[in-house]
Amino acid sequence: VSTTLPLILVIEDEAPIRKYLRVTLQTHGYRVEEASTGLEGLRVTRSAKPDVVLLDLGLPDGDGLERVKELRAESSVPIIVVSARGREEDKVLALDLGADDYLSKPFGTSELLARIRVVLRHSAALSGATPDPAFEVETLKIDFQSHMVWLAGAEVHLSPNEYALLVALARHAGKVMTHRQLLHEVWGGTASAQPHYLRVYMAGLRKKLEADPARPHFLLTEPGVGYRLRMS
Ligand code: CA
Repeated sequence: VSTTLPLILVIEDEAPIRKYLRVTLQTHGYRVEEASTGLEGLRVTRSAKPDVVLLDLGLPDGDGLERVKELRAESSVPIIVVSARGREEDKVLALDLGADDYLSKPFGTSELLARIRVVLRHSAALSGATPDPAFEVETLKIDFQSHMVWLAGAEVHLSPNEYALLVALARHAGKVMTHRQLLHEVWGGTASAQPHYLRVYMAGLRKKLEADPARPHFLLTEPGVGYRLRMS
């Protein structure tokens, strides 16, 4: 096995799920390390230096959210948390503590692989010298230098707040952004108590960018968590 293949660390206490993940990830060109407890996961993160950590939030040895904090304190490795469906507050806390994305159990293979591709792409971009000068997905294009936005070739005029919100999502395209992260990125610390700003500017953006604002194609809602800009 070539050592240039990305290494995924799976921290998961349920053996059948670990096995499924190992087989699936290896089939798709990844190397896999496994850990069945949070402590072992920390140890393997230190020794094997994985490219992505898949972290189950329901581990036997302590709070999964604490594990996110510990991992983040000593490593910038992308963390995708895996949690049971319906635990939105855990997902939001994990993301606010520094996790990069999340999957809800049960999840499909294509969803898993898409999340991994996105975080790998973002960590490659972060280690590069200059950020992308533009963002493009299907008919939507953003030029970060001129601050211009086009939809199907026609320029779209956005308010400064709408543009700032769109850029925050585009800089993390494909990844979920929590309400708190977006508020912080767009309006800074002072606006954190004003979540209704987000709803207002998101509605404005959707009106201008979506064919059907009630069924958004680009600006996706992650219920109870935040928003995600489509990447492909
Ligand atoms: Ca578990």
